[in-house]
Amino acid sequence: MPGPVPKIDCDQAQVTIRAIVRGEDSNPERMALRHHVQACEGCHSDYVGSMGTLASLGHEKRLDRAIREKAIRKFELKRSIEAVAVSKKLSRGRLRTLAYPAFFAIMMLALAGRLNFGGGPSVLAQSPGVWVRGHELETDAGEARIKVGEVMHTGPEGQALISVGETEWRMRGQCALRLEGVANPTMRLAEGNLEMGGPARCLTRLGVIRGSEGSVVLLQLTQDALGIQIAQGAATFIAAHGETELLTGQSWSVDAGGNLLRE
Ligand SMILES: [Zn+2]
Repeated sequence: MPGPVPKIDCDQAQVTIRAIVRGEDSNPERMALRHHVQACEGCHSDYVGSMGTLASLGHEKRLDRAIREKAIRKFELKRSIEAVAVSKKLSRGRLRTLAYPAFFAIMMLALAGRLNFGGGPSVLAQSPGVWVRGHELETDAGEARIKVGEVMHTGPEGQALISVGETEWRMRGQCALRLEGVANPTMRLAEGNLEMGGPARCLTRLGVIRGSEGSVVLLQLTQDALGIQIAQGAATFIAAHGETELLTGQSWSVDAGGNLLRE
């Protein structure tokens, strides 16, 4: 029969706690400590703290069974918090090392002109009746991206702004266009009214109009004639017979036979 558990005071409790930490405690000492910490809050927290220290040092087996799990749980919790903090730090670092090369790759592509950011070909519908690839665009829905080879057309009331780099094309009323080139902004006008601004080319079945930088050229293509008005800057008309310089303020027309006439 085990005798009654000896009562110890706080000083003795602290001595026992140190002994446990050193691994030099005895069973009666530990039993006495256990009784003491049940009633003494200060020693209890020291005891739990010491057991936590032991657990964190990998000495779980030396812990009092009653306190072991609690200490391990506390330690595990701390370890998992640290693990989360470490993995966050890692992932932030990893993100940085991944993001920088990606950023430079994007920048180099943009510089090489292979990515279309703001300057990429786009259509902005300024009224109802603007179609791209056979779909009507919503007015004020923002710019719709277009690619070389794609066809745009406007109805009688349709108005659209097409941007290719610094070149702008305005479709007014009945107009049908096909984007032919981006590096040298080129459109093919099938019919209708088109305003061409900036360095650009417009292909028509009656000839090619090349606008210089800063020029504004108004084109009107019907079944049997092409009207050319130079509102600003200069342009060149290119046809089978050669090239003709067209100057600011001049109006020209090309007949069905491809003859250029000053109006
Ligand atoms: Zn105490």
